[in-house]
Amino acid sequence: MESSTFKDLHLSKNIEKAIEELGFEEPTPIQTQAIPYIIEGRDVIGQAQTGTGKTAAFGIPALEMIDVNSKNIQVLVLCPTRELANQVADELGKLAKYTSTKILPVYGGQSIEMQIKALRRGVHIVIGTPGRIMDHLERKTLDISNVGMVVLDEADEMLDMGFREDIETILNRISGERQTILFSATMPAPIMKLTKNYQQNPMLVKTIHKVVTVPNMEQSYFEVKHHMKPDVLCRLIDIYDVQSSLVFCNTKRMVDDLVNTLKTRGYLADGLHGDMKQTQREKVMASFRNGEIETLVATDVAARGIDVENIEVVFNYDMPQDEESYVHRIGRTGRAGRQGIAFTFVTPKEIYKIKSIQKYTKTKILCKKVPSRSDAEDFKATMLAKKVKENIDEGHLGKYMHWVEKMLDEDYTSMDIAAGLLKIMLSENK
Ligand code: AMP
Repeated sequence: MESSTFKDLHLSKNIEKAIEELGFEEPTPIQTQAIPYIIEGRDVIGQAQTGTGKTAAFGIPALEMIDVNSKNIQVLVLCPTRELANQVADELGKLAKYTSTKILPVYGGQSIEMQIKALRRGVHIVIGTPGRIMDHLERKTLDISNVGMVVLDEADEMLDMGFREDIETILNRISGERQTILFSATMPAPIMKLTKNYQQNPMLVKTIHKVVTVPNMEQSYFEVKHHMKPDVLCRLIDIYDVQSSLVFCNTKRMVDDLVNTLKTRGYLADGLHGDMKQTQREKVMASFRNGEIETLVATDVAARGIDVENIEVVFNYDMPQDEESYVHRIGRTGRAGRQGIAFTFVTPKEIYKIKSIQKYTKTKILCKKVPSRSDAEDFKATMLAKKVKENIDEGHLGKYMHWVEKMLDEDYTSMDIAAGLLKIMLSENK
């Protein structure tokens, strides 16, 4: 996989700082390819789906070109839905945290008066649905005459929703030196026509798939809401009695957060990410190798340096950014002749990604039911009962018998004592 760093992109300090804070370790493939061209001022066609990092791919260069001393709208992003407009505005807002760039989403269904007021205060980047943008243009409440960059996000969706005419009207209104960026998951004829009519000599960027072989292993996915991920991870580790697992997160921040959660719950966990010093990383890796750490949480970048055999389970705690990265991740398990297991957590919105991974890898990824809390507890109780029986069979219980006898003398029944112990064990042994 081609890899580069955010440093290679020579971004301004304020944006670098925000990227660092978001915990992005390295640009995604679509960002590596698209950002330099967009910064250069070229028109770009990005063939990329949601989840590939496409928003930052156009958002970072968009923020780089804003002149905050001007009050003009300089970038216009067109999106098919209000949901996407909000998402894009959120992401750009985070990237713009250390700049004074003003960003405003405008979409139908929201009070137009409020939008007009916000527009009057001065905005640099407007993100809107074509219908509502047209509405503002007709009311003359939106001045796009100084827009230098237009982004058509999810262009295929916008055409499917019947926005072609609106898009063309908007583009025709922005004449002069206009940079036009188009992102689309698919490239059907109407999209090609749009790019031919409205882009100049565009560069096409897309993630090119390499041919891969997927090792033979058990691959399953679980549909998990974001906030349930830590619980589900713990249940699976318990139920499958996992002694050695690698858990992939997409950002450094997620790694830190998850390691903290796991440690608080009593798991032998630690994390690896690109910010750690070499000596620190080696220490963590050595502990993982000798079993002091059972759950290693890592980003893709950090995991490249992991050289550990016998990882039982790879968890895709966050969905990988692309199909190839999925294959790289799961390839870390099941070495030394043993079959590995790959578990992927999929939020409801990401189901389509699992489909495209299956298509790409030509393997079946089974949908499994998330084990309930009581499933996990039943399992732990069974395991504990097994251990207790083994210990009884082994004998040497003399001094323990003595303590039990003392409790029996205090009028507790043997049933009380056993149940009390089980309760303590199960709650400690989360
Ligand atoms: P998008 O394709 O724009 O919908 O982005 C999908 C998710 O990936 C968003 O939550 C982004 O914050 C995140 N993301 C974008 N770029 C990176 C990166 N370089 N490293 C890690 N996560 C990223």
